[in-house]
Formats: sequence, C-alpha cells, structure tokens
Amino acid sequence: MIAEAAPSSSPVASEADLALELNPWVAAETRFNQAAKALKLDEGMQKVLRTPTRELTVYIPVVLDDGRIEVFTGYRVQHSIARGPAKGGIRFAKDVSLDEVRALAAWMTWKCAVVNIPYGGGKGGVICEPDILSPSELERITRRYTAELIDFIGPELDIPAPDMNTNEQTMAWIMDTYSMHKRHATTAVVTGKPLAIGGSRGRTEATGRGCLIVTREAMKRLDMDPATARIVIQGFGNVGGMAAKLMKREGYKIVSIIEWDAAVYNKNGLDIEGLMKHRKDTGSIAGFAEAEDMDLNEALYQECEVLVPAAKENVITSQNAHKLRTRVLCEGANGPTTAAADPVLRDQNVFVIPDILANAGGVTVSYFEWVQDRQGYFWNENEVNNRLQEIMVSSFQDVVSYGQSKKVDNRTAAYMLALERVAHAIKLRGLYA
Ligand code: NAD
Repeated sequence: MIAEAAPSSSPVASEADLALELNPWVAAETRFNQAAKALKLDEGMQKVLRTPTRELTVYIPVVLDDGRIEVFTGYRVQHSIARGPAKGGIRFAKDVSLDEVRALAAWMTWKCAVVNIPYGGGKGGVICEPDILSPSELERITRRYTAELIDFIGPELDIPAPDMNTNEQTMAWIMDTYSMHKRHATTAVVTGKPLAIGGSRGRTEATGRGCLIVTREAMKRLDMDPATARIVIQGFGNVGGMAAKLMKREGYKIVSIIEWDAAVYNKNGLDIEGLMKHRKDTGSIAGFAEAEDMDLNEALYQECEVLVPAAKENVITSQNAHKLRTRVLCEGANGPTTAAADPVLRDQNVFVIPDILANAGGVTVSYFEWVQDRQGYFWNENEVNNRLQEIMVSSFQDVVSYGQSKKVDNRTAAYMLALERVAHAIKLRGLYA
C-alpha cells in the first residue's frame, strides 16, 4: 500500500514529490484513504476493498503479417464483483502495466457504485504498439487475448468495453470470439459494440451528455444563469466535443475550447459545429474565423463559471490549481485533478463534480446496452437519454446531499458513498469460506 500523499497547497514541489503526485495509483489510494477514514471503515473491510478479486496475466502468441511470431502480454484485473459483474475497458498501449490496470479497475468499482449500477469494476490491457500493427494483426491479438480470458469474462462475470486504442471493431471481435466458443451469439459479453450487433443508441454521446446533465444540475444548485455562464472546455474529442455540442444545443455559452495545440475564444459563445467543421477541414481549431486564438499557456486559467477538463489526466495539480478562476469544475476526463490539488480547490470554493460522477454517463449507457442485449429488446434514443438523465440527476443529488450531510467536499462524498455501497454489499453477502 502506498502512503497517503501529503496534501499541499504550495505551488513548489520537488521532482520526486511531483512524480508521486502524478501517479494515478497514488491519486486513487489517497482518495480511498480519505473516504475510508471519514467512514471509519474497519481495517479488515478496508483490506477487502483495496484488494482486487482476481488479476490475470495472459501471454498472447501471434503470427505477424511478415510471418514472425511475437508473444504479447495482456492483463485483466477484476477489482470487485461484490455488486455485480466486473465492468471496464480494455486498452492497447505499449506502456500498459499491471499497476496501472489495477488502479483503473478499482476506479471502475467506485464509478459504478456512485451511479448505483449493478456492477463491480474491472480493467484490461495488452502491451503492444497499435500504431505499427495492421488491422489483421490487431484482430489476431484481440481474438487470442479473448480466448485466453474465455473462462473469466461473460455477461454474468466480467464485461469489457473499449478504452485507449480499442474501439467498436475490437468489441465486435471479442463478441465474435466469445460467441464462437460458446456456440451461440452472446452480445452482452462486451459493450461499446456496433449498433448492428447489439450496441446501444446514444452510447457515443453518453459521456458528453452526462457532463451536460451534471453541469446543468450544478448551475441550478448554484443559481447560475445557463445563458450567461461562461463555459470553457479542454479537449475537443469524444467527451469534450460531445459535451460542447450538446451544451451549445441547449443554449449554453461555450466561450473557449482548449486543445493540445491551440485555444480559441469568443466572448459571445463559440459556434461549436462550425468549429468542428473547421478542425476537420484544417486539422486544428486554430485560425477559426469566428473566434480569437488565445495564449495556450493561459487558456486554462481564464475567468469562467464552468471549466470542463475533458482531455487527459493530471492537468490540475498542486502547481497550478491556485491559478484556476472557475466556480464549477466538471471533470469530464479521468483523473484530471491530482489529490494534492484537492485542498487548493476546496480553499478556493470551487464546486467540483468529480470524475467518478461527471464522466459516468459512458458506463451508465454501457449498462443500458447490456440490459438491452439481455432482454433482446432495444430502446429508442429518447428512452436511452431519458434513463441516463434520471440516473445522472439522482447520482448528482445523492453525492451533493451526502457531502452536505457529512460536511465533506463532493469528491470525498462520492468516494464515501461508493465505498459505503460496496462495503454494504460485502457485509450483506458475508465472506464465503
Ligand atoms: P479523445 O481522444 O476522443 O479526445 C481527447 C481530446 O483531447 C483530443 O481532441 C485531443 O487532441 C485532446 N488533447 C490531448 N491532449 C491535450 C492537451 N494537453 N490539452 C488539450 N487537449 C488535449 O478521448 P475521449 O474519449 O474524449 O477521452 C477524454 C478523457 O475522458 C480521457 O481521460 C478518458 O479516459 C475520459 N473518459 C472518456 C470516456 C468516453 O466515453 N470516451 C468515458 C469516461 C472517461
């Protein structure tokens, strides 16, 4: 176990402290420790909650296109199955490690518990370089990885989904491989599939839509006017782009979009669909006629009412949190804020919608996909969106009311609620011996 990282509001940290601060395992542990302490969870239960149920390492021999044989390493960690099957993505990347997969699997357990869907948490990964592998090599890796995991995944056991460098096609291969072994089509073994083989309507927009819903709830609670509140979004991909598009459609004013190479600004609100077309045509958001380009180094710190970091992890740290000038922070990305930045945001009275709540729209619609697959009856997009709305609104209210009643910030409240739900399930079930 890693020691609790000392929260610090000092913008000066040594390189070693900073490296520790940026470690996702430390972030997860710190939040876990804080919540467990606030809940006064007994040591034994903490041990159970910290320890994954199962960790699998598999070796994947594959014939490459040039005839050589390569052996890849893959992992699947099932952190918890106390509330239902494990649920979580599979990533393909050259720096995948068991430590990382383990931390991300735990994260999924807490995320599923916060939105109260009947899942535990899991995560998988294969160490490979997707950029230099052909589609047929990727297919062979995916199918052999699936075959190695065949006894450990399934609609009742563990349901993978796409993650970094995996997509609908990867899920179709997993579903097919699993189905061939079981001798019947088993669509519910994965989510994030193409619509034609059991995917759900509304899945692509789900995470961005979830961000919109919780931002709307936060604005209501803080008495903000959505028509005038300035919204800034970092990351214009699946999550950030969709959130921007849906917010704009609802009449919100997105004044700025920040990408890795440029940031743009329009005080009257950006034309989001126009900006998407501009990026498609030119390859960048820079130079959009109806906006000003901004200094990229300052863009995150502009004054606004809502900031949505939806690009990557560790963008708000002990080094820069004091520079933020927003009232609401809606964490579209996973882990955009380090644990050491939490107390700084608290001191600045920033209303944080923590990642395990803010971006849980994706896993929620994955759950809907699994439900539809199992009942063999598919919902229209309105039904999906309405049910998502119900879950996101009630989860938001659960977290904020819990935080108020326990006098803790929203992130601690989300973790406490999640830990409490999982611990309760374990207590009710008892420890099988
Ligand atoms: P994506 O690749 O579609 O989009 C990410 C965007 O961020 C890209 O446009 C990229 O150019 C931009 N970007 C990268 N580095 C940047 C930087 N330094 N500054 C500004 N912009 C930068 O990925 P995504 O699916 O939108 O995921 C974004 C985040 O949301 C990740 O942390 C992911 O784990 C998390 N998330 C995604 C989902 C989902 O359903 N896609 C669900 C939950 C969480």
